[in-house]
Amino acid sequence: MLTLKGTSSERQFLDQVMHKSGQNLLECLQCGKCSGGCPITSNEVGGPRKLIAEILAGMKEEALCDPTWWYCVSCGTCATRCPVEINIYQVATVLCEMAERENVSPSEPDIHRFEELFLKSVREHGRVEELQTAMLFNLQTRKPFKDAGKGLRLMLRGAISPKELLPGKKSVRARADHIFQQVLREKGEE
Ligand code: SF4
Ligand code: SF4
Repeated sequence: MLTLKGTSSERQFLDQVMHKSGQNLLECLQCGKCSGGCPITSNEVGGPRKLIAEILAGMKEEALCDPTWWYCVSCGTCATRCPVEINIYQVATVLCEMAERENVSPSEPDIHRFEELFLKSVREHGRVEELQTAMLFNLQTRKPFKDAGKGLRLMLRGAISPKELLPGKKSVRARADHIFQQVLREKGEE
């Protein structure tokens, strides 16, 4: 186990992440088995081992801007491979919430944008309306015709429909909105 010698603010950041995620990062051996199996680790995306090293070093700014937690797909491979059973996707969730609360600019703005549109669609329709979400994403990223051919083929096969562009049913909308409000209340954000 590591013995920490950082400043109090560095320790405070580490303690917060450990407390909120329920993961004892001090047990991390920095063995890299998590990153070895992680599908999103690359030269550009450091991966879970590096992310934990940043947190252990109290490098709050670097950890909150680390692309790893943006790309994390919660597949659980890291937790399965970890010899001390650290669950990194719980850590990723905590960092995501912290970054949002502290207004840290998203290091991956397109992923952030897509996430917002995805949630907006679920809140308004009770499910993700793929056509609407993809079109809004393309407009916001200024690539209006991106994947237009694929979209058309899907439409011709009936996999997506222009009806998705209509507003969601009032009753569905109200139920979905109620669930969102409940979640935000539990998180103390509404
Ligand atoms: S596998 Fe577990 S112990 Fe090894 S670096 Fe990853 S989190 Fe740390
Ligand atoms: S849960 Fe996230 S960090 Fe862990 S292996 Fe999967 S993508 Fe990588």
